Amino acid sequence: MPDTIIKIFVFIFGSIVGSFLNVCIYRMPLEQSIVKPRSFCPHCKKPIPWFDNIPFISYFILRGKCRFCKQNISLRYFLIELITAGAFLLFYVRYGLGFDFILYNLFVCLLIVATFVDIAHRIIPDEVSLGGVVIGFILSIYRGIGLSPLGLNYRPILDSLLGIIIGGGIIYLTGKAFDLIYFKLLKKGPIDGETESMGGGDVKLLAMIGAFLGWKIALLTFFMAPMFGAVVGTANLLIKKQHTIPYGPFLSLAAIINLFLADTILRLLFFI
Ligand SMILES: [Zn+2]
Repeated sequence: MPDTIIKIFVFIFGSIVGSFLNVCIYRMPLEQSIVKPRSFCPHCKKPIPWFDNIPFISYFILRGKCRFCKQNISLRYFLIELITAGAFLLFYVRYGLGFDFILYNLFVCLLIVATFVDIAHRIIPDEVSLGGVVIGFILSIYRGIGLSPLGLNYRPILDSLLGIIIGGGIIYLTGKAFDLIYFKLLKKGPIDGETESMGGGDVKLLAMIGAFLGWKIALLTFFMAPMFGAVVGTANLLIKKQHTIPYGPFLSLAAIINLFLADTILRLLFFI
C-alpha cells in the first residue's frame, strides 16, 4: 500500500480515537461511564446521531452548533480530534507501524485526557495517571522481552521503574519542601484557598511519564515544565488575577517535547 494511503488511514484513525478522548474528557471527571450511553449534546442532552459524530467533518457541516438546540459545540472537541490525529500521523512518520507506534500513541492519549480534564476541573483522574503507570510499566516488560528473545532484558524495565519512582518522587518532595518553607516557616496563608502547592495528580502524572519514557526524560520534564508554567502563570495572574494554574498541561507539553527532542537536549546540556 502506498505510504500516502497509510498516512490518511492513520490520520482518520487518530481522529476517531480523538473523538473517543473527547468523551473521556467530558465524562471521567463526572464519574460517568465512558462507553454508555452514546454521545449526547451537553446542552440539550439529545443523543448525537452517527452522521453528526464524524470527526472534523460534522463540526464543519453543523458549523459548530448542535443540530437540535443550536447551542455552540465547544471548539475543544474539534481541537482534540485534530491534536490526536496529528500525533498519530507524527508517530507513524517517526516510528512506522509497530510497537513504538502503539506505545507512544497510548501515551499521548493519556496525556491529552489528563491535560484537558486538568484545565477544566483541576484534577487528573487516577484511571489516567495511575492506570498509565501500570500500562507504561507492563509495556516496558514487553519491550524487555522483545529486545532479547533468549531472555529478559532488564534495562527498559529498570528504566521504567526508576522513572516511576524518580518522576513521582521529585515532584512530591519539591511540593513538600515548598509547603514547609512557604506555609510553615514563612507562615503565609493559603493561595486561592489551597494549602498545598502541588496536587497529588501532578505527582502521579510525572510518575506515569517516567513509566513510559524512563527516568532521564522524567527528570528533564520536571525541569522543563516550570518554564512553560511561568509564562502562562504570569499571564494568568495579570489577566485573571489567579495565583494558581493547573500544572498537568505543562508536564504533558514538556513530556511530548522531550519525547522527540530529549537526545538533542541532553547532548546540548552535557556535551555528550
Ligand atoms: Zn443540543
